[in-house]
Amino acid sequence: MVDPGGPEKAPSDAVVLFDGKDLASWMMADGRPAGWTVEQGAIVCRTGAGDIYSRVKFRSAQIHLEFNIPSMPEQHGQARGNSGVMLLSRENEIQVLDSYHNPTYADGVCGALYAVDPPLVNAYRLPGQWQSYDIVFHAPRCGAGGQVETPGSLTVLRNGVLVQDHVSDAPRTGCVEEGPLILQDHNGFGGKPAPPGARIKAPVTPIRFRNIWLRRLAN
Ligand code: MG
Repeated sequence: MVDPGGPEKAPSDAVVLFDGKDLASWMMADGRPAGWTVEQGAIVCRTGAGDIYSRVKFRSAQIHLEFNIPSMPEQHGQARGNSGVMLLSRENEIQVLDSYHNPTYADGVCGALYAVDPPLVNAYRLPGQWQSYDIVFHAPRCGAGGQVETPGSLTVLRNGVLVQDHVSDAPRTGCVEEGPLILQDHNGFGGKPAPPGARIKAPVTPIRFRNIWLRRLAN
């Protein structure tokens, strides 16, 4: 029996990664406390702080999260509202980008498996509006020698619309152990914290996330 919850309540068997209150479930790559902030019930990216990692690790899972891209009309392409949701490692990024009348390369738009698969459609919402990702990720089944025997698969709905349909080229890393969910700080330093004193060339992008949970799948 599973209580499916509701718009702001996770299913009863979900692992809640953010409940609107604090960053206790998140950390930096090196284990230090997450360097982002919480404002009005949402996690807010602090550009230059670096990517944040869930403390919980998983392999196959159903994942839900919501994101809100700030309006950045002065920016274009990959500089306009860039973030991302990464599964198990930084190699597997489901792109977050303001893709409303913002041309860029096809496998770099919002809903793409970045640099691998463009989304089926651009199920946009305007910047400043809450959007959702619902993800079903199956890790590959691997043999004793570490070879992929059954490929993994990735299905993504953006705002309830199918954008990745059971694609089999995730994860790019092949056989993987469990890993975290990672939220991207697109800061120009590869997701690492900006070095002290460094000038951050990427535009300040206070993207917000809320209602983040996952349900582990047996595979
Ligand atoms: Mg990105």
